[in-house]
Amino acid sequence: MKRNILLNPGPATTTLTVKQALMVPDICPREQEFGQMVKQVAIDLTNFVANSEEYATVLFGGSGTAAVEAVLSSCGGPKNGVVVIDNGAYGKRMCQILDAYGIPFARYESSKFEPIDIQELERYMNNCIGQGENFTHLAMIHSETTTGILNEIQAVGELANRYHLSFVVDAMSSYGAIPIDMKAMNIDYLISSANKNLQGMAGVSFVVANKEKLEALANKKRINFYLNLYDQYDHFKQTGQFRFTPPVQVIYALKQAIEELKEETIKGRYQRYSNNWRTLLKGMSELGFTYMVAKENQSRIITTFKEPEWEKFSFESMHDFCYEKGYTIYPGKVGEIGTFRIANIGDLNEEDIKGFLEVLSQYCSVIGH
Ligand SMILES: *Cc1c(COP(=O)(O)O)cnc(C)c1O
Repeated sequence: MKRNILLNPGPATTTLTVKQALMVPDICPREQEFGQMVKQVAIDLTNFVANSEEYATVLFGGSGTAAVEAVLSSCGGPKNGVVVIDNGAYGKRMCQILDAYGIPFARYESSKFEPIDIQELERYMNNCIGQGENFTHLAMIHSETTTGILNEIQAVGELANRYHLSFVVDAMSSYGAIPIDMKAMNIDYLISSANKNLQGMAGVSFVVANKEKLEALANKKRINFYLNLYDQYDHFKQTGQFRFTPPVQVIYALKQAIEELKEETIKGRYQRYSNNWRTLLKGMSELGFTYMVAKENQSRIITTFKEPEWEKFSFESMHDFCYEKGYTIYPGKVGEIGTFRIANIGDLNEEDIKGFLEVLSQYCSVIGH
């Protein structure tokens, strides 16, 4: 099979063994055998970030946004407002979801390129809560894929704890690479999907939740149906089955991806990604590209570069040149600034990044830079 190098922020490049894991004998997902397998997958997903006595993983068929929507629309409500920290497209998306459900929310806008100012955030929260709104949740993004900035979840978690707010973290593009300890970080709901750092296939997303908080949702008035977090959790707990048809084969591939992550370890995976990232930044700088977020604040998962003002440069021509040679890169406009993004996650190593830099160097020559 041709091996494409995906430098987009997910779905990421997968191993051949994960691709092969999609090929399984047909099975009805209501069979016990399938339920047992899913149960173990859920426990493994919990164990990467928490202990499985106090925390549980709830899986959904759907892309990552489905799990974000599941948490917000299951926890939020007229008496359960959400404070959202927004410093990119995914923080904004949380606000759009809350708005669609008519859930009260307050949006704290933080710089897209600079770290969150915790003291200013606290003043904002004081203000919100002072206005008598029923804010019960604080939600944010860990690795903001829009720019590649890594947000300080530890410090915000302390704040959430002090203000007695449940803490929701979208860890879509950090889970599996950047170490997370839900308990130590006061995280109640952590959201991710199979197809980013887990290096699985797209189609399944999940929520790791504090069981006490989860159980407390049992009698809350439902404003959603398919995506109800408690119902999805409880149904699986009671029956060992999904409420609705899951993406069967994608879950087998996820199981294989989990085994591969256990073997590499989260620490090992982040070292490999960090090494890819260092190679990328060095090579890009040598070609004359500049990045937007200070190195020390970057996630090392994805990097935003400024579109150069070279006469013949265009993102489309660069994309097409690279795509032709098996490397997929990703556009990305941040406000009015022309930028593009390069991710370094997935089953990639330093040689793959060097291969990309070589192709990019050829592109630069072709456009006379
Ligand atoms: C990828 C991503 C999502 C989910 O995107 P989907 O296209 O629904 O999978 C959400 N948040 C962040 C930070 C992401 O990187």
